[in-house]
Amino acid sequence: MNDLPRIGLGIDVHRLEAGRPCVLAGVAIDSPVGPVGHSDGDAVLHAACDAVLSAAGLDDLGSLFSDQAAENKDRASSEFCTETMRLVSDRQLQVWSLDIVLETDAPKLAPHRAAMRARLAELFALPADRVNLKGKTGERVGPIGRGEAMRATAVALVGPA
Ligand code: MG
Repeated sequence: MNDLPRIGLGIDVHRLEAGRPCVLAGVAIDSPVGPVGHSDGDAVLHAACDAVLSAAGLDDLGSLFSDQAAENKDRASSEFCTETMRLVSDRQLQVWSLDIVLETDAPKLAPHRAAMRARLAELFALPADRVNLKGKTGERVGPIGRGEAMRATAVALVGPA
C-alpha cells in the first residue's frame, strides 16, 4: 500500500427477535429485541470491521471469522475488532476515521449514542471526534421499518500509521 489513505465500505443486516440480548457497537443495551446471529450479532461492529478490513486491502469479516465455526458461536464481536486492528497494524496502517449509520426501529439509539461512540473510538483506536454513529428509523417501510431487522452501514478511512 502506498501512503495515500483508502476508503472501505461495510454493510451488515441482522434479523431482530424479542428476548435476544442486544449488544451494539460493543455496548450492552436494555432492549425488548436484539439481533439474531451466530456471534453476538453486533451489526455495528460487523459493518465497521468490514469497512476497515476492506480499506486495508484485507479479507472480509465472514472469511476471517466463519459463522459456521463453533469458536465464533455467541462470540463477543469486540474480539473481531481486536483481531481486525491487529491485522491493520501488522500492515503499518491505522484507522483515520469511521462513520456509521444504523437503521433500526428498536432500540432507540439516542440514549446510548455517546457510549457507543466512545466504545467505537476505543475499539478502533481513534479520537472520539473521528468516529460517528447515526441512528435512522425505517419509516415503517420494508423489513427494517416493520422492526424485523436492522442494518448497519459503515465507511472507514485507513491510512499509514
Ligand atoms: Mg453480522
